[in-house]
Amino acid sequence: MTKTDLLIIGSGPGGYRAAEYAARNGLQVVVVEEKHAGGTCLNCGCIPTKSLCHDAEVLLSAREELGLEDVKPDFGKIMARKQAIVEQLRSGVEQLLSSPNIQLVRGKASFIDANTVKVETEEYTADNIIIATGSSAKMPPVEGIDAPCVVTSTELLDIDHVPERLCIVGAGVIGMEFASVFASFGSKVTVIEFLKECLPALDSDIAKRLRKRLEKRGIEFYLQSGVKKIENGVVTFERKGKEASVEADLVLVATGRKPNTEGLGLELAGVETGRGGIVVDDNMQTSVPHIYAIGDVNGRQMLAHAATYQGFRAVNHILGKADGIRFDIMPAAIFTNPEAGCVGLTEDYCKENGVEYTCHKGYYRSNGKALAMNATEGMVKLLTDASDHIIGCHIYGSHAADLVQEVAALMNRNATLTELRETIHIHPTLSEILAECM
Ligand code: FAD
Repeated sequence: MTKTDLLIIGSGPGGYRAAEYAARNGLQVVVVEEKHAGGTCLNCGCIPTKSLCHDAEVLLSAREELGLEDVKPDFGKIMARKQAIVEQLRSGVEQLLSSPNIQLVRGKASFIDANTVKVETEEYTADNIIIATGSSAKMPPVEGIDAPCVVTSTELLDIDHVPERLCIVGAGVIGMEFASVFASFGSKVTVIEFLKECLPALDSDIAKRLRKRLEKRGIEFYLQSGVKKIENGVVTFERKGKEASVEADLVLVATGRKPNTEGLGLELAGVETGRGGIVVDDNMQTSVPHIYAIGDVNGRQMLAHAATYQGFRAVNHILGKADGIRFDIMPAAIFTNPEAGCVGLTEDYCKENGVEYTCHKGYYRSNGKALAMNATEGMVKLLTDASDHIIGCHIYGSHAADLVQEVAALMNRNATLTELRETIHIHPTLSEILAECM
């Protein structure tokens, strides 16, 4: 039996960052990982997709700005570049997990009881345990979902050719990013979505503009459509009471993710689970006080940075340290072309919940840097409350993710729009759009 201060199950952005932080604060940490170090984010999520997004953007610019309409992607090179980035970052995480005070153990961990975790034949006990096992693709109960042409995002990131016709089931963040990428690579992309608009968590105005832009790029959307069957490369769906179908060489199922709780022996440890995943409080403590659950496995906010900051909160709680992390201010982005970024309340939420607000808008088309970048498609919406405090920001356009971060920082300090406007912004930058929102 090995005894340690802190045992962490999973080495994704939740687990490995928590390990680093805990070790820096003097704890002896054991991290257990059954697959590659770095988790979903680094190996088959955020990082490889953003490598593809970048190449897709370069292709689009070559075609749309430079008029090189016939430019074709070298898909082998694109995938090799993606893989090299993943391997470089993975080895960085492995190195980090071999620093003093951290031990990386390879294998699948499961609880024997609330104080003991088994990995292969070894048993570990710890004063505190953090579960950071992430999530996996959720497959809907559709006939033919096991067909060879059906893939998850993980498998799509490993293909060796660009599919001629790609059908994407689900217009959430993952579905939309792949739609944007593969349309640039030359696939005929069709997206089938059950809801009446893509990206339901986004401001509906921004989501609609984004979809319309992707439609202009040739992506076909079938909204309010439920997939019934996938057979011999034909995806059959029901739309407004009528049956329709699309042919596809590859079908990406991107209908959400489910927390990785199976096989963990949570029942033996007495850890309570709910519909979204492991139930936690604001300190990420589960129903068993010395066991914490962070990241996708608690289903709160399935984002890499949410996992990381939840890990910091859990470690702070173990150390008895208070922190000022605001989980209600969670910026997020969609790396389509153009991008979208958001933080705080949406207009839809304010309307539905009677929250008094003012919406200030700014447009990329009147910004010098956007014109210079040939990125005039886009808008910013800044929401303020009755006392001028910023309560939300929604951006559609180039570098939306980077822009929204400024607003997130200000919201963390309860800043007003006046304070944002009085902050000097570099000229010429896209950030001037924020300062000039009317
Ligand atoms: P994970 O990163 O999933 O790591 C969990 C780790 O635990 C895995 O390595 C797994 O092997 C290990 N594990 C599981 N069970 C056990 C066990 N029993 N024993 C030992 N090890 C175990 N988020 C963003 O913020 N930005 C993005 O741009 C973005 N893009 C994405 C694109 C795609 C295609 C996908 C799928 C996701 C994307 N995400 C993005 C979401 C992001 O990847 C996750 O929110 C994040 O990885 C969650 O981190 P985590 O630490 O909770 O879990």
